[in-house]
Amino acid sequence: MELRKDPITRSWVITGDDVIEPTPHSKGCRFCGPSAEPAQVIANLPGLDGGSWSARSVVHPHAFYHIEGEAARRGDGLYDRMGSVGAHEVLLENPRHNGHIWNASDAEVEQFLRLAAQRIQDLKRDSRFKYISIFKNHGERAGQEFDHPTSQLTATTFVPRRVLYEPRAGRDYFESKERCVFCDILGQEERQNLRIVEIRGDYVAFCPYAPRVPYETWIMPRSHESSFERTGSSRVGSVIDLAALLRRTLQRIRTVTEAFHLVLHTSPNSQHPSSTLGYWKTLDDDYHWHIEILPIIEAKARSYTFKEIYYSPVTSETAVKRLREAKI
Ligand SMILES: [Zn+2]
Ligand SMILES: [Zn+2]
Ligand SMILES: [Zn+2]
Repeated sequence: MELRKDPITRSWVITGDDVIEPTPHSKGCRFCGPSAEPAQVIANLPGLDGGSWSARSVVHPHAFYHIEGEAARRGDGLYDRMGSVGAHEVLLENPRHNGHIWNASDAEVEQFLRLAAQRIQDLKRDSRFKYISIFKNHGERAGQEFDHPTSQLTATTFVPRRVLYEPRAGRDYFESKERCVFCDILGQEERQNLRIVEIRGDYVAFCPYAPRVPYETWIMPRSHESSFERTGSSRVGSVIDLAALLRRTLQRIRTVTEAFHLVLHTSPNSQHPSSTLGYWKTLDDDYHWHIEILPIIEAKARSYTFKEIYYSPVTSETAVKRLREAKI
């Protein structure tokens, strides 16, 4: 596998002639139970009630990125290519096979969030990595990989294209207004109260003004903070509030659909020495971490599979009513 850059959109893609091995089905869960295969454990958080662990990170069994070596970015005529150096981890959210975020205790979800923060902090110390992504695909239509409740982490030698828009836009807004665009969005949303799903301590869940899909929901800290991984050590509110809000928001979304993508957007790695990324120096002021949840609504899927322009047949003002009133 290698990474190639599209010279027009400047997106990196991972490509290679991969042999897709059929996954044997009968063996049960690879992460728990008697037939669990030994996985290469990277980090554990201690168990809550005498268990050996509460949240755990392991090397992805079919990793896209590998930790050893250098990316060796090089030209290929007008093109750019590099090796698929990085990290690809599976984050086990809970030792229980059915311990999903929406039916776990807040303390369990908190452990998972702390593990995610620790993994990002750890990988950001490696200056080869420009960005750490954490995402969750739940449900068949979302491309769920494992039955066990898991999220995934990748550390990459580039900042993914969609992520790159955000710090750039944040910087541009800050340059003209000297304010964080995300803080301004939250200020207006809280004043108008048209699209707020729920506020819990220092965290808010809301449906964005211009949703890409119906019931798209974001979770953000209400106090300015650029990096998720500082959650717990910075002045933003307690992680248990975030855990509860994440659990409750997923419960609400699950009253609409089972399948969703979830992605954490935190600040890129400012340790990176690249001079072309010099503006990363203002990140702490102009970027603001958040979680984006993109539900997948089957009946409407056909309408928005064409991703050049997003089409959401439900406005966020309508979506928020259903989510707020959901019996959870
Ligand atoms: Zn399991
Ligand atoms: Zn902010
Ligand atoms: Zn985002």
